[in-house]
Amino acid sequence: MLLRRNKKSASSSPSVSVTDIFPLTDTLMDFDDTVSTQQDLHRRKSTSLSAPAKRSIAQKWFIASIFMGMYLLSILVFYQIDLIQQSTLFTVIGMIVVGMLAFWAIFQTGLNLHFDEKRMKLPIVTTAFVCMALVFYLDPATQIIATPFAFITIAYGMYRISSKTLALLVTGVIVGFAIVINLHYQQWHNLALLKLEAMHFLVLILCLSAFVFQIGKVQHLHRVLHKASRKIKYIQEDAKRDVLLDCFNRRYMVAALEQQKQLADENATRLCLAVIDLDHFKKINDDFGHLSGDEVLKTFSKIAQENVRSGDVFGRYGGEEFLLIFPNTSLLPALNTSERIRAQVEHFNWDGALQHRVSVSIGVTQYIPGESVLELFSRADTAMYLAKQGGRNQVVVEEPVTLPSETSPLSK
Ligand code: GH3
Ligand code: MG
Ligand code: MG
Repeated sequence: MLLRRNKKSASSSPSVSVTDIFPLTDTLMDFDDTVSTQQDLHRRKSTSLSAPAKRSIAQKWFIASIFMGMYLLSILVFYQIDLIQQSTLFTVIGMIVVGMLAFWAIFQTGLNLHFDEKRMKLPIVTTAFVCMALVFYLDPATQIIATPFAFITIAYGMYRISSKTLALLVTGVIVGFAIVINLHYQQWHNLALLKLEAMHFLVLILCLSAFVFQIGKVQHLHRVLHKASRKIKYIQEDAKRDVLLDCFNRRYMVAALEQQKQLADENATRLCLAVIDLDHFKKINDDFGHLSGDEVLKTFSKIAQENVRSGDVFGRYGGEEFLLIFPNTSLLPALNTSERIRAQVEHFNWDGALQHRVSVSIGVTQYIPGESVLELFSRADTAMYLAKQGGRNQVVVEEPVTLPSETSPLSK
């Protein structure tokens, strides 16, 4: 059955949201957590590529908690075999609780957003070192624990702290430990302890220096991966977009249609498709030139994207032909959106002589469960050609008789 509707307008919510057809892996996204340009922001807004930030913060907390838990466990074991005093154990527990609460409060209140490095790796790492030095001061036996944990702490901050700052930090750690060793000797005048601590200290200096040197190489690799992941992301984005019209391209639309058909099959939901073609566009090119023709296409693409609903997917199929996919939508709302676009194009304030020359013909249909994407497209395309035959500047709906619904979808 074929229905025709003409020159009818409806209100709209101007936004576009899109199904992600070509997702980046989370692993690659991990290397790129910066938003640098306006274009980048726009692109992130118009696609669902951005990685889930909340999960990544939870992951970071989890990693930090594991490190602190390991340190606490070591202290507990030392306490169990009487190597350290009870007061040291309580001090460690107190510092971990206070430290976690303090940083939790900083993140909760958004205080971290005032700093360049929003994950606060440098303050976290510095606090960890100060605490370890203090525990070492309280109980010399904990130097054995502090040495390996110094490496873990540096590794924790290595992607966020520059190699220069890391070198400074390590220097500070070495000076701090030297001060503690000196304080121990001043306090107890124990030469055997001084020798033991000095030997530990020497090994710490040598190994930490070598470690920081190696970290420089890892940081370089990380930067290279970061750049590569950004390039891949842009290439993936560009592969979806029509460069001239800033909308999705044919490749993306075909993939999106295939995916929406599968979703409609799996969830037994409705799906509609519109084929849109600009009327007498060859004549517009001939009369006004190709550049003006391009401008008309750009303006039309903008009008269409501003008039589709959230969830609809709009893109160029080729030349002056476009597709509009309506996921989870029955014919009536699909028809209304199509009609709104048609009316907006007709009434748009086109430049000079272009006024009253630009219009679109639209064919709309609803997906029949089980049919192929090609059959769906073909029916919408046939409806569009009927709109051309009917005099153009109109929307033709093909309401399939074989739809599973009890009544006409247009009546809903
Ligand atoms: P109809 O109303 O029957 O659709 O007529 P029409 O002239 O729009 O259709 P036809 O297929 O004869 O011509 C389409 C024209 O669209 C021809 C082609 O040069 C032009 N076109 C396709 N892509 C572009 C483009 O990117 N820029 C410009 N300026 N013109 C384009
Ligand atoms: Mg045309
Ligand atoms: Mg055409």
